[in-house]
Amino acid sequence: MIRLRVSRCPKALLNGPCGGAFNEKCEVTGNPCPWLKILEGIHYLDGATFFNEHPLLMEIEKIPSREVKPKHSNFWSRVEKGKALSIEFPIAAIRNEVEIAEVITKTNSNLYTIPDNPLGCPHFSSTAFATYLKHFGIEVMPHLTAKDKNLAALTAELKTAVLFNFEVVLLTTGDWPSLTLPSRPVFDLDSANMIRLARLIFNGVLPTKETFEVEERPRVAGTLNPHYRPRVEAQRIARKLTAGVELFFTQVVATKQSVARIKETFIELKKYTNVEVPVMVSLLYPISDNIKLLLRKMAIQTGNDTFEEVLEEVKALDIAGGVNLIVLSRNLDVWLNLWREAYEKIREVFK
Ligand code: SF4
Repeated sequence: MIRLRVSRCPKALLNGPCGGAFNEKCEVTGNPCPWLKILEGIHYLDGATFFNEHPLLMEIEKIPSREVKPKHSNFWSRVEKGKALSIEFPIAAIRNEVEIAEVITKTNSNLYTIPDNPLGCPHFSSTAFATYLKHFGIEVMPHLTAKDKNLAALTAELKTAVLFNFEVVLLTTGDWPSLTLPSRPVFDLDSANMIRLARLIFNGVLPTKETFEVEERPRVAGTLNPHYRPRVEAQRIARKLTAGVELFFTQVVATKQSVARIKETFIELKKYTNVEVPVMVSLLYPISDNIKLLLRKMAIQTGNDTFEEVLEEVKALDIAGGVNLIVLSRNLDVWLNLWREAYEKIREVFK
């Protein structure tokens, strides 16, 4: 077993790439991502067991612990039927508690997801926000990233997730933190090792080697990028599966072909593992010409497929646990109207 690090990766990631390369170029430097090339070259090796992971976490994994059962949730029951709906909370559109309550009373979702400072643009603490939302009796999934939190901070966030009974946590490496605001990046861990850390903490074992009682735990979700080549992406997600991920949320897809790439990635994945987990497919609404321009800049494929056509393709995907809806607007009234439109379309296809 070896441990790999490449000097040309600005996040100094261990054992594999982040999900942020655009057209195979690094999101930070604009140069070809060295990790993608490496994974292309070693695809014939078993990427899931080839590498040593974070040394401290591997040591802690030897501490005996019991396997804590996941918390029962309505969201997970819907995922098992392939009919779950999650929505990304409109953090850029809300200004106060009244508006937060308005979003909850006027929308209908099995799970509310809370992003963690996307593109390095500061919003709210995702775990603090999720803790507040729990008082409304809804199911929540904060996103946690390693971009601006070190091992100690991530441990505290994951303990918070246990204490306040979150249904799911989404763990991802994260964008470069200073894309919007100059700030020093952290990247103590990557997504696979964050998943490893979460499974340890959710079983009651801390990186300090202390143990604590956990009755039931949140589910652990990771991200999948269908815009990477399936051969590369399959190796990335194989590492996450080995680490203990139970569900994937995809990067936004805007065409039927991108939905087909999810399937291709899972076919490729069979070379590495037989573990199968469901996928929540992320869709943006609306997909206007302006949005398409933005998506293309992010190396996300666009075309002429309608929202409904992409939805039909998702419905036919046998690994789909449902749809993760992201509605784009900074104005709450506009956001709510768009949400209603998208919800009707989803209900029509998934009835
Ligand atoms: S795209 Fe991600 S993995 Fe690749 S070099 Fe840049 S930061 Fe590193």
